[in-house]
Amino acid sequence: MDAQERARFPRAKYQREVPALVNCSTCDEPAVVDQPYRGQHVCRSHFLSSVDDRIRSEFHRQLPRFSGGTVAVALSGGKDSAVALAAAHRYFARRSTVRLVAVTVDEGIDGYRSGTLEAAERLTARLGVEHRVVRAESELGMTTDRAAAELPDTVPCSFCGVWRRRLLNRAARDMEAEVLVLGFNLDDLAQTVLMNLVRGDLDRIGRMAPHRTRQPGLVPRIAPLAQIPEREVFLYARLTGLPFDHGECPHAGRAARNVFRDVLWQLEEALPGSRQALLRTREELLERVASTGRAGAPRSCRECGEASSGELCRSCTYLERVRLPMIPTAAP
Ligand code: SF4
Ligand SMILES: [Zn+2]
Ligand SMILES: [Zn+2]
Repeated sequence: MDAQERARFPRAKYQREVPALVNCSTCDEPAVVDQPYRGQHVCRSHFLSSVDDRIRSEFHRQLPRFSGGTVAVALSGGKDSAVALAAAHRYFARRSTVRLVAVTVDEGIDGYRSGTLEAAERLTARLGVEHRVVRAESELGMTTDRAAAELPDTVPCSFCGVWRRRLLNRAARDMEAEVLVLGFNLDDLAQTVLMNLVRGDLDRIGRMAPHRTRQPGLVPRIAPLAQIPEREVFLYARLTGLPFDHGECPHAGRAARNVFRDVLWQLEEALPGSRQALLRTREELLERVASTGRAGAPRSCRECGEASSGELCRSCTYLERVRLPMIPTAAP
């Protein structure tokens, strides 16, 4: 990684490098990465095959008895979704019953989305995968940048993430997709579990991907990179030459997730394997909730009709909040 790339990933630990002259734990080749959670160093070829194996086994585990149909892949243009799309393309390549479609959401973020969109287009063209772009401006009449200006006290990721999920789900449902593939990596998922544990929000832990069942109106989401740490996703994308964009969203610095990312890195340094343990905790919680029959069915939002845990979905709640200041108040 060169100095320019190091500067672009100020918070990431992609740059932790393997000491020179350390060999692979399996063969005599020089190691390219360490995997403290496995107590191993791995060379290029063992690293690539270990990533491929873990992704393939997640596809098997998360998509049992899949007989075919449309598979939608959320493609942001960043490293994670690029690896997820390439993996899905390889995994389904020999199945003539599968139609693969990449979906990119353009949230309307100046100076960020154009680069990721371009990378997404290069990747889909290279793989020969159908590509759809969904724009928040035309679908919701709102963009993340405008909402961020209207709601200066709200962290933009709260509404941006909710709207993106809604647009991805709607696009996947419109194309009658059986499943929506997301590029969430091990760090993303472990952070989400930790965040919701700290908030005491077990319902949201239950609703996060990967999904076990199909709920009305919701295309089940799967996360085949669930066992791949973020820095390994980055290294894999680099070593395999996948086109992806390195840019960072200008709103990312305000995300609450950053705190959990830092805490999790410290935890992982001190106790390798903590991220995998958090994912196992989630599985265990889901088992227990399922056995008590307490998992509540989603309702329909009174405004948009989409699945919602309350009367009004979070997407509409934020849209209302943004639009409220624009409604002229009655004269006294
Ligand atoms: S960092 Fe936040 S605001 Fe930026 S694209 Fe991601 S969710 Fe949206
Ligand atoms: Zn090796
Ligand atoms: Zn709604």
